[in-house]
Amino acid sequence: MRSFAIGVDLGGTNLRIAAVEDSGRLLQSLSTATEVARGRDLVLAEMALSIRELARQFGSTHKLAGIGVGIPGIIDLSSGTLHSAANLPGWSNYPVRAELEKRLGVPVLLENDANCAALGEKWIGAGKEVDDLCMITLGTGVGGGFVIAGKPWHGLIGMAGEIGHMTVFPDGRLCGCGNYGCLEQYASATAIRRMASEAIAGGQAQGLARCMDSDPAFSARTVFQCAVRGEATALKIFSTAGHALGIALASLINALNFPLYVIGGGMSKAWEVFSPALLDELHKRSIVFRAGESAAGSPKSTTVVPARLGGDAGLMGAARLPMIARSSWNFCSLAV
Ligand SMILES: [Zn+2]
Repeated sequence: MRSFAIGVDLGGTNLRIAAVEDSGRLLQSLSTATEVARGRDLVLAEMALSIRELARQFGSTHKLAGIGVGIPGIIDLSSGTLHSAANLPGWSNYPVRAELEKRLGVPVLLENDANCAALGEKWIGAGKEVDDLCMITLGTGVGGGFVIAGKPWHGLIGMAGEIGHMTVFPDGRLCGCGNYGCLEQYASATAIRRMASEAIAGGQAQGLARCMDSDPAFSARTVFQCAVRGEATALKIFSTAGHALGIALASLINALNFPLYVIGGGMSKAWEVFSPALLDELHKRSIVFRAGESAAGSPKSTTVVPARLGGDAGLMGAARLPMIARSSWNFCSLAV
């Protein structure tokens, strides 16, 4: 009998839950209508209900390996408490694991969402062939995660992977974290929008301004579409993002010498317009990257690629958690 696990991706706006076979096959996914903003208790009740539903549905044909939950915040993994979560109002200092285990009667594993995405890509995405990888997630902000020997790397206080707050321009823009010139200020969707709006306000970007006029949301996606059409200012904005990413990645490659670096998140769809600047910086700045270049295509070369799983990486990684946990409660039975 095959086993399966239930993964939960608790996002800032949506809650997604999936039953995933140990082969990596997605058995079923549910996207609840619950808006996370409607409150913690409602979300937890909905989560527990959907988990039970999936456990019931697949429990007769598969063994349940466990439940993994990806959360966008800093988690104390020993106590299962969510320390802080900027996009989940009311969840800070909340004992998420204990509350879920109380409702379900079985052990639950928590993990930071960026680490889940890295784990998902390692399992069935861009990183299937490697043991170690680094993933940078470009979304509203910039997140990161390391998978070492097949498992997420947490660091001393669970904060490893804050790649978005690496300094790329020492005298650059002030970041919300208190530092100046963080990667997040140049390579997130928020940064793309800001750079576009600054260029338009400066009066030197009429082509970009015409593109953005058609988009009331003023989204990074529209700046990207404008760049794909060859508009110079939009291309320059993505080139800035690529340079910033390249500077951060060069340091990571020099420090880690991992075989694989995966660029994910919504912004990774713009790979074609930011990757030339990124690769140019790697070549210029990273001795380790250059050493691998002479072995291009061989197992000794450093690979930087866009993610493969898109928005599913975090969900699949959350489901993977119980499968790689060394614990005695594997193949738990959820009372349904
Ligand atoms: Zn910062």
